[in-house]
Amino acid sequence: MNLEIRARRLQGIVHRVEVSVRQLFPLGITARLTLSFIAVIVLAATANLIARESVSVILFNRPLPAPPVPSIPIPPVLSEPAPLPEPVDRKRLEALASVADRFELASQLRAEADSAASESEYVAAQETLRRSANDYPVGSVAKMTLERAVTEYIERGRLAVRVADQRRAARLEHSKLLQAMNDRLQSTIDGAWKIFGRVLARQSLIQLRVELDAIREHGEKIILGDSVDAGELKALTASENAFVATLASNETRLTSAEGAEWVKDTKADFDELVALRLSLTALNASYNDAIHRFSQNHGSLFAAISTVGSKAHQPTLRQRRSSSPPPPAVEPALAPLLAPSQRAPSPDELMAETAITRVDHHARDLMAAVTAIVLALVTAISILTVRSVVRPVRRMLRGTSTLGAGNHQVQVPRGGIRELDTLAEAFNDMAARIASAHAARRVHAETLEEAVLERTHKLQVLAQQDPLTSLPNRRHLSTLLDNAVERAARENRRLGIYFLDVDNFKNFNDSLGHGLGDRVLMSVANRLEEFADGLGFVARLGGDEFTLVYENAESERAIHETGLRLVQAFQQLLSVDDREFSVCVSVGASIFPEHGSGADELLRAADSALFHAKELGRSRLAVFTPELIESAAARFDIEQGLRRALERGEFELVYQPEVDLATMRVEIVEALIRWRMPDGRLATPGEFLAVAEQSGLITDISKWVLRAAIQAASHWHHGGWPGARVAINISPRQLLDPRFADSLAELLREFALPSSAIELELTETVMQTGAVTIAALRVLQAQGFGIALDDFGTGYSSLTSLEQLPLSRIKLDRSLIASIDSSQRSAAIARAIIDLCEGLGLAVTAEGVERPTQLAWLLANRSIFLQGFLLSDAVPFEEVLRRRAVVIPKLQNLLLSLGVESYPRAAADLRSAASAGGRSAPIPIHRAIKS
Ligand code: C2E
Ligand code: CA
Ligand code: CA
Repeated sequence: MNLEIRARRLQGIVHRVEVSVRQLFPLGITARLTLSFIAVIVLAATANLIARESVSVILFNRPLPAPPVPSIPIPPVLSEPAPLPEPVDRKRLEALASVADRFELASQLRAEADSAASESEYVAAQETLRRSANDYPVGSVAKMTLERAVTEYIERGRLAVRVADQRRAARLEHSKLLQAMNDRLQSTIDGAWKIFGRVLARQSLIQLRVELDAIREHGEKIILGDSVDAGELKALTASENAFVATLASNETRLTSAEGAEWVKDTKADFDELVALRLSLTALNASYNDAIHRFSQNHGSLFAAISTVGSKAHQPTLRQRRSSSPPPPAVEPALAPLLAPSQRAPSPDELMAETAITRVDHHARDLMAAVTAIVLALVTAISILTVRSVVRPVRRMLRGTSTLGAGNHQVQVPRGGIRELDTLAEAFNDMAARIASAHAARRVHAETLEEAVLERTHKLQVLAQQDPLTSLPNRRHLSTLLDNAVERAARENRRLGIYFLDVDNFKNFNDSLGHGLGDRVLMSVANRLEEFADGLGFVARLGGDEFTLVYENAESERAIHETGLRLVQAFQQLLSVDDREFSVCVSVGASIFPEHGSGADELLRAADSALFHAKELGRSRLAVFTPELIESAAARFDIEQGLRRALERGEFELVYQPEVDLATMRVEIVEALIRWRMPDGRLATPGEFLAVAEQSGLITDISKWVLRAAIQAASHWHHGGWPGARVAINISPRQLLDPRFADSLAELLREFALPSSAIELELTETVMQTGAVTIAALRVLQAQGFGIALDDFGTGYSSLTSLEQLPLSRIKLDRSLIASIDSSQRSAAIARAIIDLCEGLGLAVTAEGVERPTQLAWLLANRSIFLQGFLLSDAVPFEEVLRRRAVVIPKLQNLLLSLGVESYPRAAADLRSAASAGGRSAPIPIHRAIKS
């Protein structure tokens, strides 16, 4: 676990380092490879330089051998000369010669080695010789000659010994100097780098060391005193010159590396070494000369001895000298005489001599050439390698950017190193796939584009066309109308714009279903197109609204007449699905240029005119007037006001009593809406209900009325008036709402009110809402609600309503009641309706009873309800009970003033009402009859 965490941390660190290195050196592959190869070349060159400057050496710390001293044959120490055999003279002579020989040998020995033994032998031999000469038994003259010869002989010997000593001293100094120089070089080399026990020293030092060795080797003979030939001397001086040259050529580097002192010392030592070598050469010559003279003097001595003794002995002596046996190897007794340094090195020691890799100029040149070739090869290989990597990569890059630029046909040339070749192959494969995918996509895109174009065209058509009738729609109409206006303006002609609205089209939809409704609209469109043929063009604005543009109108009058013809054209029955329908239209018209200069303005004007036509009644034409615009603005204001009124609760209900003439009681009041406007004025329904209907606000208003009326009824029902009934005006729209009955039941439950306490007032328009509403009405009636047909006897009231609708009451319209006391015709109609209703068992209320004469006429009926200002106007909720109390006395007074005897039933009812204990004391019947 710990390891894992560490490994992950390490990975993270490595990754971060990689990233930062990449950020610091954002190098391309060429740069990287080039840098790497340059690094390799630089490393190779550096290594070569180091190799040139250094040589691997193996060192053995062994001092240089001292110059070997040739062994000198040392004759055996001669003892006192044995007495020569007779003849005495001859023996003595030979003894003297032997003593002289001993001195010669001792001198030579002493010259070769300056040891205590050789010195004492030398001194002893000298003494013996002097003594022997002195003791020699000859005459004084001969003796003088002999002594002179001996003295000279001894002097010669002493000279040779002196020269030999000088030479030895010089030889020792030379050896020491050579050793010192060698030591200095060696210690410097030892201070150099060591790798695996091998020392990498400076080339110049090694060179000097090699040359010093050569000097030693070539100078060996001179040091040993051997004779040297010209060639050997030349080799020695060449070595010396080489040393000087190496020192001179490397002086600067050696000075900087080893110090000026070092160089100076080395130079001084070398100069001294050469001087010593020269003086050794001279001493060698002097020694050889001294020895030669000494040797020659040996002859003079023997000549002197011979003259003193017998001449015959001389050859014998010579013979003896020449036939003396070769000197034996150093005898053990003499071995201590020789210094240890004078021993010759053993073969093993020679093998262990310093091994030095020699680097001569030849090798150096070869190395330089090889190095140059290697560097050239490395460079060439580097360039080739870089090219082999970089070229395919460049090709890939070019291919990628070409592909990126949208050329999918691109193919990268193959070749180069294997991985990049594989990459190129993969790239080509990918490019080929992309190309084929692209081609497929293009084909697909083309197909798609075609489809889109087709759809766009369809959509454009649809956007301009009404899908049901295929007529131009509202959008397209404004374009068409703009063009028509332009043409008319150019040609200075008039345009007639007609807005059509199918009267009560909603009823078709609701009662016959939307399918048939659509077919009705299509038939309307057909008839309109037929009508427009040759006049102009037609459009459908939506719903049951259509527009006709009359393009070739000659005058305002023609436009007016065409509008009327249009209304009439729809008064003929329309056949749909083999059925005949009466489909009337209301038409509003506007005229260019009188009512507007553009399409929008003209359409607005025609719309206002249509609204007015609707207000006038069904199947009407209205032509625009500027006042219509004002009323439209007023309508807009009212609509806004109504919305506010709903939010702020500005509506109120007032209640108008209906007096039952039969019972002389008020058991029912009609709820009538009022709008308490912000300025405090109370607006009547006539001022705002039409706008509420058109704007749809009637739905919310009706809901409020229903609730408020039921609440009031409940209040009275559970209060001081258990028999209270409230008549509520219902708009046809409410009945079309399938949830109407439920919401009604819900309210009754909420206010714990029986359905019998509510009477629903409907107008005949409910007939047009169709079978569904009639069925709903039946349900409501079955639930116990009273159902009254309002405004009966006006306009197009038909008996069919009485037959088909589930009613409990008929309310005779104010317009009919208004003239019953003056018009026999109205009276007859009213009479007939009342009789009919009585026959059908329907209660009848006479609305708008304003005058006692109307009351008088109505008294002729057996049973009727009276509603009108004559008895009471509508009063607020709080007033109702009080008003109810005063209405009956007021009626009684009215009856009295009319003479109640003509209405016996009323009198009887008055009595029963009085006995029931009405709050207002009834007028005693006798008083009424009397008056
Ligand atoms: P309506 O249903 O025929 O209501 C009777 C109308 O006649 C009331 O007018 C009432 O004030 C008026 N009136 C009663 N007696 C007389 C009279 O002797 N002489 C004259 N000239 N008028 C009399 P109002 O309140 O202005 O209502 C007008 C119409 O508005 C109502 O006619 C009714 O159709 C409608 N309406 C009133 N309240 C509501 C309502 O809450 N909902 C619906 N949908 N319609 C309502
Ligand atoms: Ca009413
Ligand atoms: Ca009415």
